[in-house]
Amino acid sequence: MNMPRLEVDAGKISTNARLLGKQLGDRGMAVTGVTKATLGCPEIAAILLDAGLSGIGDSRIENIERMRAVLGGGPTLTLIRSPMLSQVDRVVRSADISFNTELAIITQLSAAAQRAGRTHGIVLMVELGDLREGIMPDDLERIVRPILTLPNIELKGIGTNLACLSGTTPDAVNMAALSALVGAIEETFSLTLAIVSGGNSANIDWAFKVEDHGRINDLRLGEAILFGREALNRNPIAGLHNDAFRLVAEIIEAKRKPTQPWGHIAQNAFGEIGKVADRGEISQAILALGRQDCDPAGLVPPAGMTILAASSDHLILDTGGSMPMIGDELAFGIDYTTLLRAMTSPFVEKAILACPASRTGRSELVSAAAFKQKANG
Ligand SMILES: *Cc1c(COP(=O)(O)O)cnc(C)c1O
Repeated sequence: MNMPRLEVDAGKISTNARLLGKQLGDRGMAVTGVTKATLGCPEIAAILLDAGLSGIGDSRIENIERMRAVLGGGPTLTLIRSPMLSQVDRVVRSADISFNTELAIITQLSAAAQRAGRTHGIVLMVELGDLREGIMPDDLERIVRPILTLPNIELKGIGTNLACLSGTTPDAVNMAALSALVGAIEETFSLTLAIVSGGNSANIDWAFKVEDHGRINDLRLGEAILFGREALNRNPIAGLHNDAFRLVAEIIEAKRKPTQPWGHIAQNAFGEIGKVADRGEISQAILALGRQDCDPAGLVPPAGMTILAASSDHLILDTGGSMPMIGDELAFGIDYTTLLRAMTSPFVEKAILACPASRTGRSELVSAAAFKQKANG
């Protein structure tokens, strides 16, 4: 197998998805599995759907198209970023639903849906304080009215996204505000909103600790499923796996070296001037892994080892008491950003490992998905 290699433990992701799906289901909320950090990996999407999640959300149309090609027409695929005007035809072709905040785009989605002879679902995102995407609450009725007249467009629901840009915390107050907006829209326009999407992995504490979830009946979860953590303080969620991913890299140099550089010290390749404490000589290893493969800041080194620095293609480790051999493989824990970058890097081999304890069913699904992907070219 090629190196560096991202190893995905399908069994752990499946367990996380099953547990969250069940626990949130008991509280009246469906879970949309968010795959964007996996580059819309169809095998992982298949695992999430097999674990009982209600659908898949991704922010990129390329990812939605890839998953649609492998998974077929059955599962509900939602584009969770506002479509680009330049991509409306692709959006109505591959996504069942898209999240929207602009009437100009929804109007073009309507035109594209008519051209394609399809109906496209819309979820309107509402701004509740985080200042990323969202219609200001006072403007919501004004945008709903014309949407209801647009051909081939179905208003499916409303939603909000918090804690992404400003750290605005989902709580009883802003979630009740979302529920109140649902009630107001339903009353004003005599309709029922099927989807009320309350947020992302930052909503976990709210979902488990607040009793009354009002009208919220859907959460969009990526990090909580993939890493078993909530996204406000990155605390582990009880009973879930936090180590479904590891990044494995190979050692290409291992030497005793001083900790202090020598010569006249100016900027390094990234415009930084480092100051290093003199700790004498250390065991230093270089791995063939760098910023073009991952986000080095999100790597957790093996016990006893410390990451000293990373350039585009080299990761420098203080290996502590041990001196690994050239060609040795080292496995690192990773965070969300490193997963995102590793999945996106063409240099990183992706290996989905089925968990032996749960090999039946799912791995068949995974290999069926892989097979179908080949069949689709
Ligand atoms: C990325 C994203 C999510 C999922 O976020 P997690 O923190 O990974 O759960 C949900 N909703 C939207 C709109 C997103 O962009």
